[in-house]
Amino acid sequence: TEACLSAIEGAGKLNAFVHDTSEIARRQAEVADSRIKDGDAPSMCGIPLGIKDLFCIKGVPSQAASNILGGFKPEYESTVTTQLFGAGAVMLGKLNMDEFAMGSSNETSCYGNAVNPWRRGNDDEALTPGGSSGGSASAVSADLCLGATGTDTGGSIRQPAAFTGITGIKPTYGRCSRWGIVAFASSLDQAGPMTKDVRDAAIMLEAMCGHDPKDSTSADLAVPNFEAMLTGDIKGKTIGIPREYRMDGMSDEIDALWAEGRKMLEDAGAKVVDISLPHTKYALPAYYVIAPAEASSNLARYDGVRYGHRAKLSQGDGITEMYEKTRAEGFGDEVKRRVMVGTYVLSAGFYDAYYNRARKVRTLIKKDFEDVFAQGVDAILTPATPSAAFPLGMEVEDPVQMYLNDVFTVTVNLAGLPGISVPAGTDKQGLPLGLQLIGRPWEEGDLLNCAYALE
Ligand code: GLN
Repeated sequence: TEACLSAIEGAGKLNAFVHDTSEIARRQAEVADSRIKDGDAPSMCGIPLGIKDLFCIKGVPSQAASNILGGFKPEYESTVTTQLFGAGAVMLGKLNMDEFAMGSSNETSCYGNAVNPWRRGNDDEALTPGGSSGGSASAVSADLCLGATGTDTGGSIRQPAAFTGITGIKPTYGRCSRWGIVAFASSLDQAGPMTKDVRDAAIMLEAMCGHDPKDSTSADLAVPNFEAMLTGDIKGKTIGIPREYRMDGMSDEIDALWAEGRKMLEDAGAKVVDISLPHTKYALPAYYVIAPAEASSNLARYDGVRYGHRAKLSQGDGITEMYEKTRAEGFGDEVKRRVMVGTYVLSAGFYDAYYNRARKVRTLIKKDFEDVFAQGVDAILTPATPSAAFPLGMEVEDPVQMYLNDVFTVTVNLAGLPGISVPAGTDKQGLPLGLQLIGRPWEEGDLLNCAYALE
């Protein structure tokens, strides 16, 4: 804990940590010390973590990187962090992210963006750590903490993990409780660990997940010992390579990385087969209808009354002016864009044409996966991202270009499946690249084991 706290102090330029909780950390570390001395150390005992700002921590600023939650200190604690602290973990601080987890570069944060610790060769240009869990990725990659919590609605664990050379898993929808995590798109949001390697991910995931009566979508299933499942033996497993993920204009480097991953899995004894997921091309448009629709509804609660910020009002202003001024001041541009898109696609005249259509597409995408799993495929291998980390400021002016970053990751959220990104080498300029494995529902243990074979 002390080593991490001093590393954080020296790494201000990364802007990864946005709220310091070192006092809490030191107290937790002391308790962990005595538990270790008593021979009563649980799985995460004394492990220093960073916590994404989307998680509500009792008495600690929890702002989802938004000005509208300025000054908000929850009275309650998220289930995931309760479980992590119960397992002995130490909280170093809150981590930077895109505002309300909307973004792929960490540039929508009210704190300013986190920075990727990696550079292109000798080039000094600052790169994005990815988003929305950019602070988590940057902090783990730069050794400021041993692991971090992330959340993934459309790729926000896997894309930043790929951009910073770390491991990140989004579990099956319902594995981790969403209680106490600020909601973005409730039917897609899942928490997961971001760690140095697959073994750490297995240990941390086990501590994070489990049934929670406070979240009606949390699954009442036993949590396996994921670490014990890491045998590295994938003989007899069938891995699918989906042809629709070979996008037009895909770079040779990403193509070569994918082929290399395929070979590694074959060498480890897996059977690799070509598969088809025919509705893949509709995933991104469907996601960018469904996610904003749910977000517009979830974000209606920020009204200047219940949480955080309230605008200064003028003489004669009524409740409508209070809502309008508070939301105009409190939300950033990307959040406003999503609220407008979401409200539009849910409006009476357009609901069927957009929202309902997107839900039907979502069902087809889910069915594509069910079909290949029914044919005996155990896991699916794809690139995690279409490129390596890009320079900050490059795509922020063009939202559609930014949305294209999520092309390989959103299908997994729409289908509710587990997906993991593992580091898989570097591009010509020395930047990390990631491969993604997608697993069967509830089979995170097998998925982690396949990923282990890629390490
Ligand atoms: N980049 C995607 C978005 O902006 C995904 C975000 C996420 O997974 N939280 O919606």
